[in-house]
Parts: sequence; C-alpha cells; structure tokens
Amino acid sequence: MDKTQAPDWHRLARELCVDAENFIDGQSLPSADGRRFDNINPATGDAQGATARGSGRDIDGAVRSAQNAFPAWSRMAPRERMKVLQDFADRIEADAQNLALMDTLDMGMPISSMIDVEVSEAADIFRFFAETIDKIEGVVTRTDASAFNYVLHEPLGVVGAITPWNFPLTQAAGKIAPALAAGNTVVLKPSEESPQSATRLASLFVEAGGPPGAFNVVNGYGREAGKALAKHMHVAKIAFTGSVAIGRKMMIYAGKSNLKHVATELGGKSPQIVLADVDNLDYAVDCAMHGIFGNTGQVCNAASRMLVHESVHDEFVDKLARLTRRNYVPGDPLDTNTTMGPLVSEQQQKTVLGYLKAGLEEGAKLEFGGGVPGKIESGFFVEPSLFTGVDNTMRIAQEEIFGPVASVIRFRSTDEAIRIANDTIYGLTASVFTRDLTTAHALARDVQAGVVWLNTMNESDMTMPWGGVKQSGTGRDNCLATMYSYLQTKSVWTRIA
Ligand code: NAD
Repeated sequence: MDKTQAPDWHRLARELCVDAENFIDGQSLPSADGRRFDNINPATGDAQGATARGSGRDIDGAVRSAQNAFPAWSRMAPRERMKVLQDFADRIEADAQNLALMDTLDMGMPISSMIDVEVSEAADIFRFFAETIDKIEGVVTRTDASAFNYVLHEPLGVVGAITPWNFPLTQAAGKIAPALAAGNTVVLKPSEESPQSATRLASLFVEAGGPPGAFNVVNGYGREAGKALAKHMHVAKIAFTGSVAIGRKMMIYAGKSNLKHVATELGGKSPQIVLADVDNLDYAVDCAMHGIFGNTGQVCNAASRMLVHESVHDEFVDKLARLTRRNYVPGDPLDTNTTMGPLVSEQQQKTVLGYLKAGLEEGAKLEFGGGVPGKIESGFFVEPSLFTGVDNTMRIAQEEIFGPVASVIRFRSTDEAIRIANDTIYGLTASVFTRDLTTAHALARDVQAGVVWLNTMNESDMTMPWGGVKQSGTGRDNCLATMYSYLQTKSVWTRIA
C-alpha cells in the first residue's frame, strides 16, 4: 500500500456499518430467531456492531438453499462458471478497502497487511481455481473390446466450510473457491470473531452473476451454527480450518451423521532448524522474526520453536532481540505504519499471558517481552516475547500458543535437531537453514511436516499443496489436487456387443 495515498482509515471505520447478518439464498437476513451478539473490536475492547447468532434453523435454511441452487450451478457450462468466479475475484480486489477494513476491525491485523496481502491473495485463490474448471478431465479405462468404461469427476453436492479468524478472507477463499469451482454449492460458517467480510464476500458473488443460494453464509457460534452444519445430513463434505480440538469433533460429527467427507487444516508447532553452517544468519533471523511475530503470532505455521545449533545460538538470540525491537512495536492497527496489532480477543490475551507465566514457572529464561505493552491502555495487546533455555518437554514448546511467543531450543547435533523437531503431535511446517544441500534434503525427508522450507520460510504459491501431517490435519489447500478433493468419481460401464 502506498502510505502517502492511504485513506483516513479512522474516518472510514466510523462510517462502516459493522453489523453482520446471515446471507441465504442471495439475501442478507437476520438469524431465524432474531438473536445477535456483540462484535468486539480487539484494538479497543469496545462493542462495534452486532452479529447474527445463527442456529440449526438458519443452517437448515442455508443448506436447503444450497441444494436448490446445486442443479443450476453444477450444470452451468464450465466457461460460464469460470467467468463468474473471475468476475468475483475482480470484485474482491475492487472492494479491497471495505473487506480489509472489516477484517482489521474484527480481528486486529494491521490494515496495511490486510490490503497488501490478504485481499489480493483471496482474489488469487478464486482466479487459480476458476482457471482449473475446464482443465479437469475424465478418463476412459482400458477394458475388453466388448465394453466401454469412462470415469467422471462430479461435484459432491453441498459443501460446509467452517473457518477461523486469523486470516478471515484467505481461509474462507481456500475452501469456497475449490468447492464452487468444482460445481458444489456452499454454506460457510465463519468464525464468530470475524463475521463481517464473509457476508460481504457472499453478496459480491451474487453481484458477479453467481446464482442466489450457491454461496450462503450463516454467522454464529461454533457449538451452535457450526455443529449444526457439521452434523447436517445433507452436507456432503465439511472443509474445516481451526484447532485440533474442534477438528477432532468434525470427524465425530461426520461419523455420527451421514459419514460426510471431512478435510481438516489444524494447528502447528513448527520448528525452524538453524544448523551450525547456516549460510546467512541475518536472513534466518529475519525469517524467524516475521515467522513468529507476523499477525501477532496468530498463524498456524508460526515459527514458535526455533531450534538453533549451540555454535550460533547466542548470536541468533542477540540479533533477533535487536531486529524485533526495531520492527515489531504493538500499535493501532488502523495506523498504516503499525506492524503488530492486538490479539483477537480478551480470551486469547488471557491464554497467551498464561503461557508466558507457564514458561517462567517451568524455568525458561525470558529474553524480551513477557506482558502487556506499557503504553497501550485498552485492547488485547501482548508484547513480542522470546524464551531461551527451553526444553522441548515444556508446555511452551509442546502446546500451540497462537500468540507472539517464541521458544529457542539449543541443540548439539543434527540428529538431535531432528528428534526434537519431530517430538510433537503436530506436523504442519518446518524450515531448515544450512549451506549443505545434502543435509538440507536429508532433513526435508526426515522432518515430519506437510511443508518443509529450505533456507527460507513462509514462501508459497497457489500451485504448492498446503496442509499438515500427524495431528495438523488431513486436508490440503491450494494446488490442483485440492480441486479433486471437492469432486467424486463415477464409473460408467457400457456393454457394446
Ligand atoms: P477453533 O477451532 O476454535 O474454531 C474454528 C472454527 O470452528 C470457528 O468458525 C468456530 O466457530 C468453529 N467451531 C468451534 N467449535 C465448534 C463446534 N463444536 N462445532 C463446529 N464448529 C465449531 O479455531 P480458531 O481459534 O478460530 O482458529 C485458530 C486455530 O486454527 C489454530 O489452531 C490454528 O493453528 C488453526 N489454523 C490452521 C490453519 C492451517 O492451514 N492448518 C490455518 C489457520 C488457522
């Protein structure tokens, strides 16, 4: 974002209507029983609007509407469907200011990151999957000459998407784009912490020519609207991103209802392994800093465990402390110079402060941070914080904190680093910094993670499969293969003579 041309975000925020309704059958609607709850701005702690509190009745209505829209959407000529999704992507970009502002007010990510990254990435996700629509081909299998067998890839039906608040737009797009591109219709239940942009997204889809009912949104709490969606007998797939605890529930709900498909993208405790022969320590430190403090540490693949060889440990910690002091100062997320906003909620702030206390009680050494920033009077802020002297058995090394708290763990040998890296229930991402290509590829093989970065971190592309192993989840976002996970195969066998 060109900061000299930036609008007056505070004025725009005052003018924005921050109520979030449901969006069903092409219409913005209150919840069926009229209930609502307050939407809290995490930067101030103030209520800023009301959100529809959807329940089973709203989910029933949204699923019915998605079922009704399914024939029109799934049978629309592929290039027509592609045009709708491409127009939708253009509208997302054209509406960047509103979408970004809604998400910043809801969950606190600095407005400049919202504009520069979130909105354009969301539009790109829709473009990528739109482009695949007419590239999906069936096959004819080799059979005896008396028969003809072809295999089709058909949409599943109604897809339920349940998403978190840490990247409201891109997390929603990651589910909705492949689902819609594959010809399914969708009911989205966004996080109760970030409801606004989802409803706006659904209305932009209709403006782009999407049939009413093909993309519905029901707002509300997970235990009410989310559970009703995941247990619904007419939902063919649940695409879920969130915590391990709730991901586990998704599988139970599917087992207890209609055995729907379940794809999960869950938490992480990603190791960043810095070996003694690291080629560029400054760059490794820079990656570590952005990896843990970006989005106030509320990132599934946050670099929360920094495994650093003893020979470069002290230099790494010194550099990280200096760089962080310069780059990550918590502040007002509507100020375009702010790089670090608040945590999403008072509860999340309490949780993170609890982990800071636990780290000290377990004997780790606090290098910097450790509490609420002194100069800020309201909102749910926590300072960027770093522990050293961490043992991998400590809670701060084992549990996902989801805040700006990193642990540095010292190691002596590469084997020890691999053992520590894998000693976790998670397996989302990992990164390795070494100048030895053989070692790098050996670690890429041995570290248990869905994504491994060599000599970098957090780079990706729409073509790169994204997802975890172990308890970090079963699904994959992005990439062409994801499109197939929203399709089912049908074999058609014909006797010729
Ligand atoms: P969460 O699990 O608390 O909630 C996620 C969603 O599930 C929300 O929409 C919530 O309302 C809903 N939900 C909660 N209880 C439910 C229930 N009983 N039934 C149905 N739905 C229910 O997670 P969160 O706090 O919103 O997000 C943070 C988590 O998301 C972290 O663990 C993070 O690692 C993970 N995450 C993972 C990825 C990834 O790509 N792997 C990406 C982003 C976030």
